[in-house]
Amino acid sequence: MKKIREAPISRWYETNPLLYFNEKISLFEHYRHLVFEENEGKIRLTGRLRVIDQNGDEHGNFLVEIVFPDDYPYEFPKVYEKEGKIPVDSARHMNSDGSFALCFKYDEIFHIKKGLKVIYLIETLIIPFLSRQLFFDQFGEWVSGDRLFGDEGIVDFYQKELNTKDLKIISNILETVLTTHKIAPNAPCFCKSGKKFKKCHRELFEHIKMKVPEKDMREDLKVIRKYFE
Ligand SMILES: [Zn+2]
Repeated sequence: MKKIREAPISRWYETNPLLYFNEKISLFEHYRHLVFEENEGKIRLTGRLRVIDQNGDEHGNFLVEIVFPDDYPYEFPKVYEKEGKIPVDSARHMNSDGSFALCFKYDEIFHIKKGLKVIYLIETLIIPFLSRQLFFDQFGEWVSGDRLFGDEGIVDFYQKELNTKDLKIISNILETVLTTHKIAPNAPCFCKSGKKFKKCHRELFEHIKMKVPEKDMREDLKVIRKYFE
């Protein structure tokens, strides 16, 4: 009888050692105090991140742990704060497992599609997140109002991405994305503005099509329709 051997689980840093190497190099200049550790097959990056303003003054610092998923960079890392400075509470933009809710689900997908890099994660998502937490600690509110969750969060997301408050237009764009995969650039735009598609809604059409997976968009469209039907 043939023996079946279990294939070893291959992790991102084994299948892609160059990526791991490049991630280490990228941190060398400004974040060399952060330490990569390999433990039980997981790569963790741990160290203190400082929130510094334009004048170079430090407003606070956090001991942070970034845990890389097995199929990094195609899955989003989880980020934790290790000293209990941020309460694990959804009102503080924390997930129930204690990790940071760094961005909206579609923004995670978007960052992954663009190609996630740890330096980008630290500088454009984690440090701004920590900075907002410090502001909240001091003033009891968020810098630019609270982020919305649930159905309101979905509506808010499309209003910002599609640059309109009009839910009818948003619903039209989503319907068109879901039913028509290609529109001739010179065809009249689906919004009935009378302009050519390429001079009207093409950019937003391509943008949202790339950002949101089709099955999610179908669900979101139902949510948006509830608001005006
Ligand atoms: Zn249009």
